[in-house]
Amino acid sequence: MGLSNAPPASPVVTADQALERLIEGNRRFVDNIRGEHVVMGPRARAALVEGQQPFAIILSCSDSRAPAELIFDQGLGDLFVIRVAGNVVAPSLVGSVEFAAAAFGTRLAVVMGHSRCGAIDATLSELLDEDHGGPLTDNIRDIVERCRAPVETVVSAAGRDADRSFLQREAVRANVRNSCDHLRHGSRLLERLCTEEGMLIVGAEYALETGKVTFLPRA
Ligand SMILES: [Zn+2]
Repeated sequence: MGLSNAPPASPVVTADQALERLIEGNRRFVDNIRGEHVVMGPRARAALVEGQQPFAIILSCSDSRAPAELIFDQGLGDLFVIRVAGNVVAPSLVGSVEFAAAAFGTRLAVVMGHSRCGAIDATLSELLDEDHGGPLTDNIRDIVERCRAPVETVVSAAGRDADRSFLQREAVRANVRNSCDHLRHGSRLLERLCTEEGMLIVGAEYALETGKVTFLPRA
């Protein structure tokens, strides 16, 4: 991978077009249909050896039940996916988004959380002084610490005694919004692309129960 790569050969897909493709792909996934355009296999692989032009960047949780390519019904070369537990934002993850936006002209970045996220659950347990089944390692603690501020905001607004599944749901959304804000304002490059070049950074939530992705209102 190198930033010196030539600019994308065909016109860049706009953020809105990219968003529409994701919405349609998720609709197919929910309906259990596989799109004919979704390319896999040796021929598609060969065509992509010389370069890629992913139309969307997805920062999502590592949870095995939430693989972006499947739930948006996309194939090889379509999505630039960054996965980390709790879809948190840390420098190398911001760098990955910057890289894709700069090298491939990708103008849509989606931060996608999901229902029943273990990272959010661990953060909630930490804040509510619940037992989370063993000590957290320093590295896991780093993830929890990155989720802490948005989850704390939810707990203070709703109260510690609020319904646990309500807290969990709201915390997932708050954490997604927090990661979106970090991407929008924690990177000079992304901030410039958003204000001057039509880049869009949107939050989304994947429901394990239904397979549906809901995009959060744009900030
Ligand atoms: Zn998760």
